[in-house]
Amino acid sequence: MNLDTAFSFLDHHLLRRPEHRLRVAQHLSPAIVHRLQRSKLHHMVKYLNRHSRFYQRKFREYGIDPRSVHSHADLGNFFTTADDLRNNPIEDFLCARPEFGFETTGTSMGVNKRVYFSYAEMMEYGRDGAAGLYNLGLRRDDIIADGFDYSFWNAPFTAFYTIQAMGCFHVIGAFVEPREFYERIRVYKPTVIMGVPTHLVRVTEVAEQEGVWPVKVLLLGGENLSQRTRHYMESVWTGAKVYLSYGQTEAFGANGVECPDRGGYHVSGLSLVSDIHQPDEEGYGELVYSTLNRTVMPLLRYRSADITRWTTDGACSCGLRVMPRIAKIAGRSDELINCSMGNISPYWFEEMLRDIPAVTDDWQVVVRRGERDDRIEFNMELRPGADAQQVKEQLFRNIQERFPDCWRYYTKKFFEFDFQFHQPQTLGGGRKLRRLIDARTQAWNE
Ligand SMILES: [Zn+2]
Repeated sequence: MNLDTAFSFLDHHLLRRPEHRLRVAQHLSPAIVHRLQRSKLHHMVKYLNRHSRFYQRKFREYGIDPRSVHSHADLGNFFTTADDLRNNPIEDFLCARPEFGFETTGTSMGVNKRVYFSYAEMMEYGRDGAAGLYNLGLRRDDIIADGFDYSFWNAPFTAFYTIQAMGCFHVIGAFVEPREFYERIRVYKPTVIMGVPTHLVRVTEVAEQEGVWPVKVLLLGGENLSQRTRHYMESVWTGAKVYLSYGQTEAFGANGVECPDRGGYHVSGLSLVSDIHQPDEEGYGELVYSTLNRTVMPLLRYRSADITRWTTDGACSCGLRVMPRIAKIAGRSDELINCSMGNISPYWFEEMLRDIPAVTDDWQVVVRRGERDDRIEFNMELRPGADAQQVKEQLFRNIQERFPDCWRYYTKKFFEFDFQFHQPQTLGGGRKLRRLIDARTQAWNE
């Protein structure tokens, strides 16, 4: 029996409980994880070559000999992309009979990506997810309410199989109106609440007026979260910790879970091989990953379009410490905008605005053609009684402190700022805002 098969046997038969999985994870060395990854990736590539028409074609096209692949580097310049998922029949990716299909969010291209799974795969993700929850302090006697939207999306099922593997009591509130969600889950007194930030922040606003009960953890997924919103939620649900999980539908929403020390997300080294493609000087690049345990629709060196980097702030002490950590997602590669302010992403503006309580969380930045160079237009909602001039001054101080290069360019007049203030609840209208818009191309075309 080789290392890979021995580990799979252990995994499936002996490590069904989250605390056992976590304990074994603590004792794995990075060298063993690395060896397992190489062995699993090697088998997966050969499996794809036997069963997937898409990968058969690509291996031929790129001159890849599946028998010689043990790592991403062995694949040369081959990647699987979101466009591949959109432009090829899904049957070409399937290697076994699917039992469940999900679609990715974001319809900007008009065609949704579909990703298929089996029940066995979802259960396995659930067992890994449970180890992640155990690491955050959840236990079998916790009561969990979730508010995920069911429509075509994997998140409620990721929650379902994870909670099932934990053995916790589960009540599904789903994506209903925040006040109804609050009133109906309160009867169960959940110690853990899961959902997306935009929904649970509204639920928290209701709880702030109507009262709270003891909640241990709020686990959020599906979107980034500003530090300010995190602190707000923790201040209302006294004693609760707010944690984030990170995942794409392509990986069943389970790429990583936040470290309790909050130094980023631990990525699973046993179900994924992850790396950062073309990192810049600061280490930021596109997250690229392969799934290792799937049989229905495995993905090989998939370009996530999410920009992040490996964390640099030293080792953590939590149960998943052997699994590497990626930093908060800085943006989408398709959201990065190159302008005279720099190579900007929504993350920049989150950082600039995060401790300015006079403006709401609904803001939007538009890059326009200015007189000579680019004009960066901040659209912000000013809270009642707040002073626009003070907001500007604070914002300038933040840019000076947190983005010194950017400030230097500004003082040299490489670009201009423009500030538009709006009434609260007018910019987003309750929907998720597109944070960063490049309006220059439109101006050229007009
Ligand atoms: Zn950790």
